[in-house]
Amino acid sequence: MTDRRKFVRFSLLTSAAMLAGKAISAQRKIEDDEVTYSTLRGQPVVVSTWDFGQQANAAAWKVLEQDGSPIDALEMGARVPEADPYNQTVGYGGRPDRDGRVTLDACMMDENGRCGAVAALEFVKHAISVARMVMERTPHVMLVGDGALQFALANGFRKENLLTVKSELEWREWLKTAKYTPYKNIENKMPGGQYNHDTIGMLAMDNRGNMGGACTTSGMAYKLHGRVGDSPIIGAGLYVDNEVGGATSSGVGEEVIRIVGSHLVVEYMRMGYTPEVACKKAVQRIAKRNPGMKDDFQVGFLALNKHGEYGAFALQKGFSYAIKNGREDTVYNANHLF
Ligand code: ASP
Repeated sequence: MTDRRKFVRFSLLTSAAMLAGKAISAQRKIEDDEVTYSTLRGQPVVVSTWDFGQQANAAAWKVLEQDGSPIDALEMGARVPEADPYNQTVGYGGRPDRDGRVTLDACMMDENGRCGAVAALEFVKHAISVARMVMERTPHVMLVGDGALQFALANGFRKENLLTVKSELEWREWLKTAKYTPYKNIENKMPGGQYNHDTIGMLAMDNRGNMGGACTTSGMAYKLHGRVGDSPIIGAGLYVDNEVGGATSSGVGEEVIRIVGSHLVVEYMRMGYTPEVACKKAVQRIAKRNPGMKDDFQVGFLALNKHGEYGAFALQKGFSYAIKNGREDTVYNANHLF
């Protein structure tokens, strides 16, 4: 993994882009010691939250490099962690709620502002594909709970048990000591140093400059049954504006919902801030609303703009993200506030 501050790739890539006659706009608002990280404009790119985003990026890249759409690429990418039983924060194998039920949240948004979402979906591991169907086959944006399940089954999805033996054993252990109280998401704060979070949030741009986003999660471990986080909520866990860029989040969803985080990041980019600064400003807003907070909880944002520039920022150390384009396949640690 790489620490972003050690890299000054901007100048290299920008000069390459300029040589190619594809200069990036100079109207950027750069703050403090921030650096703009960029891929080549007009070239496909996909970015995803967390280290495991790298595998998702690989699947998405196969679609993008064959001229596929961002939405096709993102669906393929998001399905990778959803199918992975060892990823306990997304899809099959996800940690259950406090009643032992695995409930999934997911959404997608395309370059035309079309969006679809499912929340508190049980028994169907590819929540992202159901969210896409909500977008493409219904006049609605979001289906929840039993309605989402019925819709999925009516559209050919198979009902299956998503609770793996490992996740069930851990949940039973948790029940012994937790007094039925959900944890907030923070690195290594669960018993045994387990992580109590992660969501895959993905943003992609194709070679026509069209963008899309996807977000899928099993949400906060041991949450109250029926709890929905930021991840399936358009504007909170994900937002894409094809004129500006896209953003996605991971961490304590309640905090992200309160500031409509991903939409806020996109609006900061619209004002001209770089993706990293836009993410930082959203993170600062969360911190401001929680005076005195330090290592209480984690939230991280990841953004990609129309120029192919990307960046991330988190409250705490430990938030990582993965980027894949024609020349790079890397996981970075995001800069952080505390
Ligand atoms: N944002 C997700 C939620 O609150 C979980 C996470 O990303 O850690 O459900």
